[in-house]
Amino acid sequence: MELYRDIADLRNFVADRKRRGQRIVFVPTMGALHQGHGACVRRGRSVDNGALVVSIYVNPTQFGPGEDLDKYPDTLESDLDLCREWGVDAVIAPRHDDVYPPDRPGPVWVVVEELTKPMCGATRPGHFRGVATVVTKLFNLVSPDVAVFGQKDAQQALVIREMVKQLAMPVELLLAPIQREPDGLALSSRNRYLNQRERAVAPVVFASLTEALRLVGRGERDAGTLRALVRSQLESRDGVEVEYVDLRNAEDLSPLDSVKGKVILAVAVRVGSTRLIDNAVFCVEADGAVRECLLFGEEI
Ligand code: AMP
Repeated sequence: MELYRDIADLRNFVADRKRRGQRIVFVPTMGALHQGHGACVRRGRSVDNGALVVSIYVNPTQFGPGEDLDKYPDTLESDLDLCREWGVDAVIAPRHDDVYPPDRPGPVWVVVEELTKPMCGATRPGHFRGVATVVTKLFNLVSPDVAVFGQKDAQQALVIREMVKQLAMPVELLLAPIQREPDGLALSSRNRYLNQRERAVAPVVFASLTEALRLVGRGERDAGTLRALVRSQLESRDGVEVEYVDLRNAEDLSPLDSVKGKVILAVAVRVGSTRLIDNAVFCVEADGAVRECLLFGEEI
């Protein structure tokens, strides 16, 4: 496996693999890798004749003031071990100045409107502008044919899909399903911030989503009732503070009064000072059964 710091070296690698007829399959990450990232890599490996490139870069512009940029975990050595284990072909850990060139007259931003208004966009102003901008830059640095994102960050995946569509970026997008701990807690680099007591209550996030889906399976369709159920389950646990509970159309994030079509039920909470997000994407089959699914693309 190659490790590149220099963009020029990465570009040589990419050009060489493309010359050999390979497709560049790209998984952008902020490091502190875990099996959630592993699922993105696995999804990427299903691409025929692919060369897998993982980026590790903690993007400052997607963090708000007072967020955890300064303490975001840096575990490069173990990240590289995992990438080797997963069969990654190249890791790019770009220098900050190559991503955000210094001494320019001012920044250039990529802004996706509407999709970034609700949910995490409402509670983290500027977050998705940072995400869309850095993903654009990374796409331009890596020139991927395919890029893989995780459904854990569902709103991010929809924002990137819209950006790719409207800016005509020649990149095919794939999604990896949410990977969880055995007790349901969605894997996240931030889980390591949780102390023992917080870790013990954190599975309530997934449990509350599961309970809501069970209610849908029993015929409940009212969005307000489902949101209230999730909120009350979350608030029943000490140390859990709800940021939002939202039920929306999973194609365009428009608000819904009732469960109809493909739906996303999304949650953000704080457990102590750690912010956790999770979601369930589902539709109700003709026979009333609840089927969980990917936001877009094929399941494998
Ligand atoms: P991050 O390093 O947090 O920026 O995440 C990099 C990619 O991994 C994003 O596309 C995430 O959605 C994805 N990812 C993170 N956690 C998970 C998870 N638990 N399951 C699936 N994908 C994940």
